[in-house]
Amino acid sequence: MTPTSASPSDQLIFAPVGIAHLTGDNTDLVRAAAAGRSRIRITTAAQLNGVPHFGTVVTMLTVFALAQHTAEALGLPTSIMFDALENAPAEHLDIDGDIYTRSVGDLIDTGHLDHAERVGGFEQLLAWAKQRSGISYEFRPYAVYQGLRPIRECLHQIASNLEEFTPIVAPRDGIARIRPRCPDCRLMQKSAKDLRITALSGAVRLDSHCPHHGRYSEMVHIDGGGWYDANTPVRSIQKGYLLAAERDLYDACSVSVDGADWGGSWHASVLAPALAQLGIPPADWPVSIFTPLITDRTGGKLSKTLYVAHGTYADLPELFLNLDVLLAQHGEQILELIWTEVTRWATEPRRLHRTYTIDYITALLDAGLPTEQLRSA
Ligand SMILES: [Zn+2]
Repeated sequence: MTPTSASPSDQLIFAPVGIAHLTGDNTDLVRAAAAGRSRIRITTAAQLNGVPHFGTVVTMLTVFALAQHTAEALGLPTSIMFDALENAPAEHLDIDGDIYTRSVGDLIDTGHLDHAERVGGFEQLLAWAKQRSGISYEFRPYAVYQGLRPIRECLHQIASNLEEFTPIVAPRDGIARIRPRCPDCRLMQKSAKDLRITALSGAVRLDSHCPHHGRYSEMVHIDGGGWYDANTPVRSIQKGYLLAAERDLYDACSVSVDGADWGGSWHASVLAPALAQLGIPPADWPVSIFTPLITDRTGGKLSKTLYVAHGTYADLPELFLNLDVLLAQHGEQILELIWTEVTRWATEPRRLHRTYTIDYITALLDAGLPTEQLRSA
């Protein structure tokens, strides 16, 4: 197998985009923030909404490749924190015209979902990437994340200044979704229309209503205890706050690596204004690096949600939407092929700051798997 020489990118000319003009190596984006620090901590996250699809696989391997390259280039110990979001909704119920959800974690707790089925694919991928890269990782469930002290401090600041934060986290309806769940049946109101958020001294009180069990409250103390679901914008802002705090907590350079859909407008309209509103000095903001988007043939993001809702779409073979199928058909050598590719992305700015279509990936894998016909899978 000679994947490096077989890459279809050898025939491509890469257009240098904005940030690629500024940088010679992707490490240039980390260098200043890492100066004088003892270590690099890279954080990434994924919703546990089933078996990872190809886009998630590529993103996670790119995170490890970036970690390995940065560690070598800057000579600093580097580790990865993987935030596993078991608070992703897994069940939707329409009760009197209002939508209520239960999370992946809740349904695992009650035996309605299988833990191994939800988490096994991610664990297998993380274990492979750790072995391949030599970079260690921690697996952090949302239940732990939501209780971390800096995360709670940030929650309290948002709850204490809802007038400033709701235009950022809920520009459509002005309802910040910091939601409790019914203590009896764990239903959570999706719209949060009955939610009341009250900032108290050292705690946030969340009041809501269950269609079966009536009114309830959850007390969320900065010092611990209680549980709440933070939706994506709130969680994203809390993560920025946490990573800023971890510069001092761990004498670390904090880096957040996420898919490219968290760059652009999300970073400009949600994360950046919120970090400014929280009063975090720009020098303490985490470094944000975005991994290439994998698109279908129409240019849209490869979407598991679309696949689940509509079956195969945009002429995609199932192996691109399901890691189990990918590994069953091609074994772990396919991870090796992807690894070879993403290690090039990790180094070269012009390869990192772009998208790749599924046709590009198909050509890449075809070239590395000469005896197999990927297109017929
Ligand atoms: Zn209930």
